Amino acid sequence: MNTIPPVDLVRQYKNISDEIDRAVLEVVRSGRYIGGAIVSDFEEQLAEYVGTSHCISCNSGTDALYLALRALNIGAGDEVITTPFTFIATAETISLAGAKPVFVDIERNTFNMDISAIEAAITPQTKAIIPVHLFGQPVNMARLMDIAQKHNLYVIEDCAQSTGAKWGGNIVGNIGHVGCFSFFPTKNLGTCGDGGAITTNDPAIAQTIRVIKEHGSAQRYYHDVVGINSRLDSIQAAILRVKLSYLEQWNEQRREVARRYHQLLASIPNIQLPQETNGGDHVWNQYTILVKNQSSQEKTTRDDLREKLQEKGIISMIYYPIPLHLQKVYQNLGYKNGAFPIAEQAAEEVLSLPMFPDISVEEQEQVAYALGDYFS
Ligand SMILES: *Cc1c(COP(=O)(O)O)cnc(C)c1O
Repeated sequence: MNTIPPVDLVRQYKNISDEIDRAVLEVVRSGRYIGGAIVSDFEEQLAEYVGTSHCISCNSGTDALYLALRALNIGAGDEVITTPFTFIATAETISLAGAKPVFVDIERNTFNMDISAIEAAITPQTKAIIPVHLFGQPVNMARLMDIAQKHNLYVIEDCAQSTGAKWGGNIVGNIGHVGCFSFFPTKNLGTCGDGGAITTNDPAIAQTIRVIKEHGSAQRYYHDVVGINSRLDSIQAAILRVKLSYLEQWNEQRREVARRYHQLLASIPNIQLPQETNGGDHVWNQYTILVKNQSSQEKTTRDDLREKLQEKGIISMIYYPIPLHLQKVYQNLGYKNGAFPIAEQAAEEVLSLPMFPDISVEEQEQVAYALGDYFS
C-alpha cells in the first residue's frame, strides 16, 4: 500500500537537489559556519521579498516571537491579546517575556482570531496584539490595524505558517510593527533544520533585536541587557536562499492543490471545506476541513474518520486538539471550558488533509475517494 503523507519533504528536495547540495557543500568547504555574507544576504533577500527595510535572522519562529516581544519592551505587568487556536509558541513566548497572554475566540470560517472580540479584551495593561495568520490564511489586517492604532497597541504578526501570504496586496510581516517567521521544515519556506526571522520597518526595533539575539551586546564582550543566543546557521541560510527563489512557485502550486480539493470534495456531506476571506491571499500551509460530529460516543466522528483514512494509508493531522486556554500550562490564567466555544468546537472537528506543493492529482483523488466512501 502506498501511503500519502501529510507533507513530503524528500519529494521537494529531489526536485532541487543539485542546487541544495551545491549550496550546502559550499558552506561546509568554506569553514565559515556561523554568520558571514550568506546569512546577511539571506536577510536582505527576505527583507526585499517581504518589502520591509529590515530583516533579522534567528534560530526559530519561537525565538522570533520572543525577540519581538523583548524588543518592544513587553514584560511583567503587560498583557498581550492573541488567539487560543494556534501553536503553543505564540502564547508561550508572551509568558517567557514575563507578560500575560489574553485570548479571544476565533471565527469558524477562517480559524483566525475574531477581530470583533478584540476591543472587549483590551485593558489598561494591554500592550500588543499577536494575530496569527493560521494555516496560511491572513487575518483581516485592515480591521486589526485600525483597532491597534485607536488603542495605541503594537502588532506582532505571527507569520510562521504564512510566508508569502498577502492582505490587501501587502505581504504579511510588512503590515504590523514586526513580523515573525519560522523556517521549520514543514512551513511554506522551510529549511533542513531550524530557523526563523523577524521583519520590521523600524530601525530602532531592528537594532534592539540584533542586540538581544547576540547576548545583549552591540559590541562583542560588552553586554548591556540580558540577551540570548539565537542564530540562523550559515548552512540553513544557504538552503533558504535557494528555497526562497521557489517560494512563489510553491505557493501557487499549493493554491492549485487547494482548488482541486475544493472541487473533489464539494459534494461530500458532513464536512465543511476551508473558506477564503475577501481581501486575503491564502498560501495554504494546511488544507483543514471541519468534520461535523455525529457521534454520541467519546470518539468524535473526526477521530473515527482519521483512523479509517490511516487504514487506507492516508495520513491526516489534527491542528490543534486542545486550544491553549484549556492547556495544563495555562490553568493559572483561569479560563474555563466554554470560554471560547468556537475554538473548542474547532479543536474537536478540524482535520488537515495531505497538503504539499507536489502532491499528485492521483493522490488527491485517493484522499477524496476515501472521504466520500466514509460518508456514503
Ligand atoms: C511553527 C510555528 C511557530 C514556531 O516556530 P518554530 O520555528 O517551530 O519555533 C510559531 N507560531 C506558529 C503559528 C507556528 O506554526
